[in-house]
Amino acid sequence: MKDGALDRLRGKLLGEVVGPRDAGYDSARRVYNAMIDKRPAVIARCLGTADVVTAVRFAREEGLLIAVRGGGHSVAGHAMCDDGLVIDLSLMRGVHVDPERRTARVQGGALLGDVDRETQLHGLAIPTGQMSETGIAGLTLNGGVGMMLHKYGLTCDNLLSADVVTVDGELLTASADSHEELFWALRGGGGNFGVVTSFEFRAHPVGPMMLAGFLAHPVERAEEVLTFLRDFSASSPAYLSADALFIHAPEADFVPEEFQGMPMVALFVRYFGPMADAWRTVQPLRDFGSPLYDSLGPMPLVAVQSMLDTFTPAGNLHYWTSEFLPGFGAEQIAAVAAIGSDLPSSLTTINVHPFDTAATDVPADATAFAHREDSWLIHVICQWQDPAESDRCRAWVKKASSQLKAFGHGNTYLNTTSEDDETDRVRAFWDEPRLARLARVKAAYDPDNVLRFNHNIAPAPRRAAP
Ligand SMILES: Cc1cc2nc3c(=O)[nH]c(=O)nc-3n(C[C@H](O)[C@H](O)[C@H](O)COP(=O)(O)OP(=O)(O)OC[C@H]3O[C@@H](n4cnc5c(N)ncnc54)[C@H](O)[C@@H]3O)c2cc1C
Repeated sequence: MKDGALDRLRGKLLGEVVGPRDAGYDSARRVYNAMIDKRPAVIARCLGTADVVTAVRFAREEGLLIAVRGGGHSVAGHAMCDDGLVIDLSLMRGVHVDPERRTARVQGGALLGDVDRETQLHGLAIPTGQMSETGIAGLTLNGGVGMMLHKYGLTCDNLLSADVVTVDGELLTASADSHEELFWALRGGGGNFGVVTSFEFRAHPVGPMMLAGFLAHPVERAEEVLTFLRDFSASSPAYLSADALFIHAPEADFVPEEFQGMPMVALFVRYFGPMADAWRTVQPLRDFGSPLYDSLGPMPLVAVQSMLDTFTPAGNLHYWTSEFLPGFGAEQIAAVAAIGSDLPSSLTTINVHPFDTAATDVPADATAFAHREDSWLIHVICQWQDPAESDRCRAWVKKASSQLKAFGHGNTYLNTTSEDDETDRVRAFWDEPRLARLARVKAAYDPDNVLRFNHNIAPAPRRAAP
């Protein structure tokens, strides 16, 4: 950077400018995954869209690459970079709900818990993920999978428009009638195309009360539990979400003391339909096997959406992968059960998620998100605390990944992977026509690949002049 550059930026930004010599530098560059240790040249903690425009223009003048931090939850560490400029949106967490139109405008640094709290004031909810501290931005841009998937689709399926600051520092709105190709790309193409300062979502009448909890089974019965889940999910109502979680039960008040720390496979059940039908709808799940414990009960949506927070606090070391499995027959079930029964640390979890957006009728090519047709999404969420365990844990994930890949097409859910074979995964997730279309959008909005700290899409080559 040129001499005095940081001071010049300080003079223009309403928010805070943090450089390597500033006291707050180490906390500002810290992200969720403690494996990530990047040292940006400058972090611009923006307070509004005008700050984002200023920071982007500054980066371009100084020839800096740009990373964008939404919630900072990317396990691959894409919110930070070495030597470049980080646009940090963590001070931009506003959520404004329009109850008449059933829409919500959400700033680019908001967390899922912010969104739930504000929308629930009006008895509304946006389909998002399942932990309150994940950022809405990264989650939406690469899809967004949570309990409302079967009923209301991915988070990106509910996006109505996005305010975007381009790498040239221009502000535009992408929607179905404006910058349509960009709007298509933002729904599944990740943070490749610009800085989203706010999202406008469609919201749905859900909550405030739901029925939710865990039905915990001994891990030795994993194959039976997964087989039951597969058969049950084939015809379960869209208001009911049931995943299987391989976990060591946490020391939480919803887990009886005698089971805390025990490895188990738990059905994580969430019913968000009419409460009068709630207990009847979940009864078949409760009737299966003889659960070690059954914690199902009525609770507010905001509490349900933070129930898993205890499993994954910020600051641990993480290495994740995930795989879409086109089928879930006996062989796949045996493989997943074996992986789930051999977790390398007591903090590691496997999340087995029936993946189906059919009820939403979103056509396959309507958004950049690929593989709606796949039916089971397996998340391998490896976390530990002692750096001496890092090699062993990463090796375990790589082995699990290759076992799962044998059944699928190598299609990972990009939001939940920190694998190093990034290029292969990007190519496997987006089919050729989609990737070519994304590359054209990238070339139109970021031809120099200034935004490359993401699941990166290389810009399509410029055509030679005739
Ligand atoms: C504990 C935990 C739980 C999770 N649960 C779920 C879940 O239930 N469902 C699910 O689908 N996923 C889940 N995820 C994955 C999550 O969706 C991704 O990690 C996602 O990237 C998080 O978004 P973020 O804004 O917090 O991330 P960040 O690390 O801030 O950013 C991720 C990527 O998005 C880009 N980006 C961020 N903000 C913007 C913006 N405003 N404009 C443009 N680009 C931007 C970044 O540059 C980066 O490339 C979970 C992750 C964690 C760690």
